[in-house]
Amino acid sequence: MTETAQPKPEVQKDRSMVLQKEMIARHFERLAAAPETKEPVVYTFVPGNLTELVRSFGALPVLPEINALQSGMRGKSRDYIAEAERLGHSEDVCTYVKCDIGMLKSGNIGPTGKRLPKPDLLLLSYTGCYTFMKWFELLREEYDCPTVFLQVPYQGDGTLAPEHRQYIADQLRNEVVPALEQATGKTFDEERLRHYLGLSAAAEDDLVAVLQSAKKKPSPIDAYFGAVYYVGPIFSAFRGTEEGAEYYRTLRAEVEARAAAGLGPITPDGPLDEQKYRLVVEGPPNWTNFREFWRMFSDEKAVAVASTYSKVGGTYDFGFRHDPKDPLGTLADYCGGCYTNLNLPSRVDMLVNYIREYDADGFVINSIKSCNSFSAWQLMILREVEKRTGIPGGFIESDLVDPRYFSPANIKNRLESYLQMIEARRREVSA
Ligand code: SF4
Repeated sequence: MTETAQPKPEVQKDRSMVLQKEMIARHFERLAAAPETKEPVVYTFVPGNLTELVRSFGALPVLPEINALQSGMRGKSRDYIAEAERLGHSEDVCTYVKCDIGMLKSGNIGPTGKRLPKPDLLLLSYTGCYTFMKWFELLREEYDCPTVFLQVPYQGDGTLAPEHRQYIADQLRNEVVPALEQATGKTFDEERLRHYLGLSAAAEDDLVAVLQSAKKKPSPIDAYFGAVYYVGPIFSAFRGTEEGAEYYRTLRAEVEARAAAGLGPITPDGPLDEQKYRLVVEGPPNWTNFREFWRMFSDEKAVAVASTYSKVGGTYDFGFRHDPKDPLGTLADYCGGCYTNLNLPSRVDMLVNYIREYDADGFVINSIKSCNSFSAWQLMILREVEKRTGIPGGFIESDLVDPRYFSPANIKNRLESYLQMIEARRREVSA
């Protein structure tokens, strides 16, 4: 007698998750086919990305950090990093860079298993992290392709001055647009760009509504781990596209329905409706052990209600929206306002305000070994935020995509001790 295998119960997926998966798959298929279809390809980084402008020339964007983090999530980064170190890249270099270089030297097979095309242009929009510049210098040596460098003045005193804005807009018109015309063989079409910027603004409205839903109790989202998925399309290739706008409409409707029903987010272990700790998180997540890392929080019934990482591709919750009426000016504002371009006092203000606005119990800093842009000032940020809010902060350490620097026992231990401290503080306050 033979036993009939029972079909596995079907995993329920939100419509937005299905949409996102389909969008990403289609994009990588188009990239893989680009050498035949002759669609031009522009490499650029997440902070300060000019996706609407790139797409207005009919070009496809490639975001190297996204490829690196996807390789980390799929267990491929260890070998890629080893390959880069074998080639002489130091242990201290940003592991996104080493993962990308290792991938390139191992056949340039992207995260979905399809080969990535060579760039027709490297578009370096420089928004505060020096590593971006060195990274593209390495890629330029590899590909021997044209490069254009947009210099975005750093917000040293916490604002983007009118002359800085003008300086960026002038470079866009006089350097970036001609470089894109040259690389794609197409003429700049300002009306097309305006149309894409309008789609961006609609998606940004919906994203902000999703992120701010975390003010509710229970929060219907996790604004750090869960937000990684929510910001994916708008931080990568889909800002300014019809499919991106549709994704955010769908996502917002789902989150609003969850909020109306008083439900929490779905975590790796199921719904987190009962929430014991509301946390603000600073710093990028670890990608090699992403679900394990998330589970350390959800096991303790801790939900992230706000994070700085979910603003790395745009600080939309401060009110900025791409404005179709002023296409190049609005792109200048966007680049100048990126999280990586903000100074230390602005980053401290951001955390202090999040703790207050989202009624958080505490804040946790995930210090990333190889990311100087985020980590350089984090101990100072910790002390300053503690001083201004009277709330003690938690400090954990890991890395982006280098599994050698993810120590589960150590991180879990620190997180648990921190949450116990919050608990003890609650008891003191209520005594
Ligand atoms: S150092 Fe940090 S901000 Fe800079 S490229 Fe690496 S991960 Fe990104």
